[in-house]
Amino acid sequence: MILVTGATGQFGTSAIDFLLKKGISANTIVALVREEEKAAALKNKGVKVRMGDYDDYASLVDAFTGVEKVLFISGSDIANRLSQHQNTINAAKEAGVQHLIYTSFQRNNETETSPLWLVAQSHIQTEKWLKESGMKYTLLRNNLYMDFLPAFIGENVLETGGIYLPAGQGKVSAVLRSEMAEAAANILTTNGHEGKEYNFSNTEAVSYPEMAQWISEVSGKQINYTSPTAEDYAKTLQNFGVPAEIIGLFSSFAVAQAEGELASVSTDVENLLGRKPTSVKDFLSTMYAIKEK
Ligand code: NAP
Repeated sequence: MILVTGATGQFGTSAIDFLLKKGISANTIVALVREEEKAAALKNKGVKVRMGDYDDYASLVDAFTGVEKVLFISGSDIANRLSQHQNTINAAKEAGVQHLIYTSFQRNNETETSPLWLVAQSHIQTEKWLKESGMKYTLLRNNLYMDFLPAFIGENVLETGGIYLPAGQGKVSAVLRSEMAEAAANILTTNGHEGKEYNFSNTEAVSYPEMAQWISEVSGKQINYTSPTAEDYAKTLQNFGVPAEIIGLFSSFAVAQAEGELASVSTDVENLLGRKPTSVKDFLSTMYAIKEK
């Protein structure tokens, strides 16, 4: 049996759909869910639903019992993620899970000086625990979800005519979340992935000046890119009433991109999918050409 954590989330839902598409029988797929009322869509697909919360160790041991492989999707509660991930790994081990596939995070700088330290530290520690656990493991080092690029670009970019982000000339090798989920489903259903560390980045890294250029081309509107200092960026967003937490998150991701934290390229996703992943250029072209109509 294959269990997918975070099954009510976007990555988990997508991974389960790809498992089903690949012909994996629904009654051999287990969805880990923490709120029964969110499980209706999963039940309709015929997959088994088990209740479990990363904060509740005993629930995890119960849910993992009889499971061979777990797709462990990292938690979304960054403040409490460390203990949640420790629970998950220990519970999987106690329940006899053989192979854990973990959605980790792409990075270069593994020290507290990383602008993304808040996000990265729990992934780094989780990887370490996994390696020490004695279970077979596979690490998926996810780059930025391409789906999030419009938020960095600015949802109203066609109206404002500008991208305003402290990302400098830095590049990002973002991949569509659904393509990462498809690659993960392929790992779950084929052999030879034990002990592997995959770089879930695109085959090409792109900069915000390039993105501005492509959006200009497909929309017919001139889009300019401005990279302020992180301080000016924070002040501007503050003036628009954006909450400090959101400013911090966007700013740290932007500065990380400026520093090349998300710029490494890879053919791992391409190899796992058996085709090139969607490029940022194609994604933006489709998105902003449609918006124009
Ligand atoms: P998502 O849609 O927010 O899904 C998160 C899933 O985790 C949901 O199913 C959620 O359950 C579950 N979850 C959260 N806390 C839990 C707990 N205490 N116990 C059990 N389940 C819990 O996120 P996503 O888009 O699928 O992304 C998956 C993960 O990737 C995120 O959780 C985050 O760690 C990471 N991420 C990566 C990027 C990137 O760009 N690479 C961006 C954002 C996030 P509920 O439905 O009950 O809330």
